[in-house]
Amino acid sequence: MSFLEYAPAPESRSVLHLRDEYGLFIDGEFRPGSGESFATISPADESHIATVAAASDADVDAAVAAARRAYDRTWSRMSGRDRGKYLFRIARLVQERARELAVAESLDNGKPIKESRDVDVPLVAAWFFYYAGWADKLDHAGYGANPRALGVAGQVIPWNFPLLMLAWKVAPALAAGNTVVIKPAETTPLSALVFAEILQQADLPPGVVNIVTGAGATGAAIVRHPDVDKVAFTGSTGVGREIAKAVAGTPKKLTLELGGKAANIVFEDAPIDQAIEGIVNGIFFNQGHVCCAGSRLLVQESIHDDVVDRLKTRLSTLRLGDPLDKNTDIGAINSAEQLQRIRELSRIGEDEGAERWSADCAIPDKGFWFPPTIFTNVQASHRIARDEIFGPVLSVLTFRTPAEAIEKANNTPYGLSAGIWSDKGSRILAVADRLRAGVIWANTFNRFDPSSPFGGYKESGYGREGGRHGLLAYLKGAAA
Ligand code: NAP
Ligand code: MG
Repeated sequence: MSFLEYAPAPESRSVLHLRDEYGLFIDGEFRPGSGESFATISPADESHIATVAAASDADVDAAVAAARRAYDRTWSRMSGRDRGKYLFRIARLVQERARELAVAESLDNGKPIKESRDVDVPLVAAWFFYYAGWADKLDHAGYGANPRALGVAGQVIPWNFPLLMLAWKVAPALAAGNTVVIKPAETTPLSALVFAEILQQADLPPGVVNIVTGAGATGAAIVRHPDVDKVAFTGSTGVGREIAKAVAGTPKKLTLELGGKAANIVFEDAPIDQAIEGIVNGIFFNQGHVCCAGSRLLVQESIHDDVVDRLKTRLSTLRLGDPLDKNTDIGAINSAEQLQRIRELSRIGEDEGAERWSADCAIPDKGFWFPPTIFTNVQASHRIARDEIFGPVLSVLTFRTPAEAIEKANNTPYGLSAGIWSDKGSRILAVADRLRAGVIWANTFNRFDPSSPFGGYKESGYGREGGRHGLLAYLKGAAA
């Protein structure tokens, strides 16, 4: 049902100057990789975007050596003020090339252009601006006088926010005086490679940031490399566990940002229209490929039916389709593997007795797609209430009292984020105080700001990114 038909409004791909092939970015220049190159594709239509080099152990070794040289010879000798100038320059270039970066991100990842354009890329610039400001003020960060960098940081990031996760890792590392070897995810290397061009444009000294593309083995080579002083990882809890084992017993510092299964708690006195928007944003933003997604809706029993009805009505208006179309709300699932996982967990949800409802939207013939989906009659023991689905699937549970809401919300191996919707400030504070989650949003969801620390409890990992706290992970002597 639609009163107004939208004409297609695709963003032009011509702003993006794609190369057919991308090498590894080591020591300030692109060079061939000695691993077997791979293709990156658009998940919206499975078309080939570019061929990308894969870094072997030897290539990772060269990248770490370049980072070490840059650390010893230039970056660690430079004043904080001068490092800050480079970071400001990178931030401004990200803004200048924002449209191109947004197109690259939506093309490679499948996320709607309105999200990459209005959320991802502006936050990337904000992260560099913010940490640029810290570079000459480390003495005032609360970590003692003259805090020292660690050295070479090895960083591995996932595919859900490819460029934003790069910014979260690279900006604080450089501000604190470290050099970097970073690996983007195999399915989303493109924006990191455009970012490498930005580093060249910014005249960043060679070797300060090295970008090595490849699969899990490349990530493992970075993690295990003996000359890496710090490992920072964002991704699945399973791989995070392997990394923790690999790093145990070495002097390397480690931060892990892993999965989540956040509770979004809606009390009967909540501003309901606002809450509906917040629930939708909480789980359907970025196709639900969000570690802090509000994937478990805990709704007070008295308003359950009303909330579910309103959600269905709202979801029926979302537009699923071409990620580059400016009117698209729901883009493509990032990969065939991820789609398979979402389908599998949804099937298990039905088998376990939950009731499935999916928005009735046309699914394109090619590419990887999953309609916005709600499960009701979900029990806390169901897999769909426990496992991270990492897709556009909401599990709805109910509660009667605030105490029950808190107990259910905390009944998870994860602890990354949570949301509370209520008109009553005292209730919000009382409940927030008892939730074991790193970030708690009140009457909003999925808000990010570079000055605000982000990170988890329990199986969601350890260490904080963002804010003054985010510097801790990249400074000597400071715990994290
Ligand atoms: P993942 O397998 O943990 O991958 C994250 C990053 O680690 C990627 O760059 C990956 O490379 C790399 N990697 C894989 N195996 C590695 C190893 N043994 N050592 C070092 N690096 C390794 O996560 P994913 O495949 O992207 O997603 C799977 C699940 O992880 C999702 O369903 C979701 O549950 C969770 N996830 C969480 C977040 C978050 O932000 N917390 C983000 C993404 C995914 P390749 O890409 O080349 O495999
Ligand atoms: Mg891709």
